[in-house]
Amino acid sequence: MPHHRTRRTSPRHRFAASLLALAIAAGWPGTGFLPVSHAAEKSGGKPADDGKRLQAIYDRVSRKTGISWQSAAAIDRYERTLTRARPKSRPLPPQAIVGVYIPESRWAGPLNPDPKDTNPASIRFFGGIGRDGSGDGMAELSNDLDRLYTVASIVKSYGNGKDDFAIGLWEYYRNPRAVQRVLQFTRILEAFGRGDLSRHAFPLPIGASYSYRSTWGDSRGWGGYRIHEGTDIFASYGVPVRSTTYGIIELKGWNKYGGWRIGIRDLNNLYHYYAHLQGFEKNLKPGDVVKPGQIIGWVGSSGYGRPGTQGKFPPHLHYGIYRDRGLVEWAFDPYPLLRRWEREERKALRVTR
Ligand SMILES: [Zn+2]
Repeated sequence: MPHHRTRRTSPRHRFAASLLALAIAAGWPGTGFLPVSHAAEKSGGKPADDGKRLQAIYDRVSRKTGISWQSAAAIDRYERTLTRARPKSRPLPPQAIVGVYIPESRWAGPLNPDPKDTNPASIRFFGGIGRDGSGDGMAELSNDLDRLYTVASIVKSYGNGKDDFAIGLWEYYRNPRAVQRVLQFTRILEAFGRGDLSRHAFPLPIGASYSYRSTWGDSRGWGGYRIHEGTDIFASYGVPVRSTTYGIIELKGWNKYGGWRIGIRDLNNLYHYYAHLQGFEKNLKPGDVVKPGQIIGWVGSSGYGRPGTQGKFPPHLHYGIYRDRGLVEWAFDPYPLLRRWEREERKALRVTR
């Protein structure tokens, strides 16, 4: 069904009013700790030893700056998603495992005659931000620890209070989306207490009766010309709709196209969008953390009108995924991922039976 999404980048001038709202939407500081079994998780897109090396870096930055390892990891993961979305404009050193990107002129100082300067004192003199996190006396842009430590210590310099982390993020990034993302990622990591959160689930129970096919880019009629940005999964009213990822609820409510819909942000900075629901799982609210397979609502046919409108088309789940590129978000075709998650979940069910 149609392109249901009308979210847009928040203009910067609304920032002052929205900082607290963002912090609240991110559930900061959070409630709703969600315990989960550690056993069933697989390691993510990076080799396991990269995961261990990264954790050691987060722990060290945490000890040195006083921010939590989850906050250090959230900064790193946020920046890595931007690098993945725009690799050409964010060149990282060849051996980097920390995703933080800092331009040379910001690191060494815009007026520094030596753009490769690694001397913390002269960098500071020329207004650069580069600092030494590894303890070798040099502030090296190519050093993972130095880069993450630099960002973390700047953010931390705005204070220890509960809103100060958000303020520090704003002062460093000057981008409300960056603030929101890092707070969201921190919340997810705090809720599960670890970083290997890459498992996925198919959005409907594997045993339910449903059907779907690739419908990417189909044009739709209602509300003017729009391109279909997602996959429609047809099923009966009331079939449970489940989160496909570990993530945090970013949006929940009515939209004239999508009906009752819910949006969940994951640690890869993907926004998972579930529309036309019959209803929501009552206890969930924006800022809550969810895990793959957790029920978030039920298949319905809501949408195409005033709040509560239903039945203008057959019941189905509209599922879309959007990638945050820093200032805008782009939809991509979720169909191949749906196929993969369905296959993986089937396989896991066979193994455990
Ligand atoms: Zn649709």
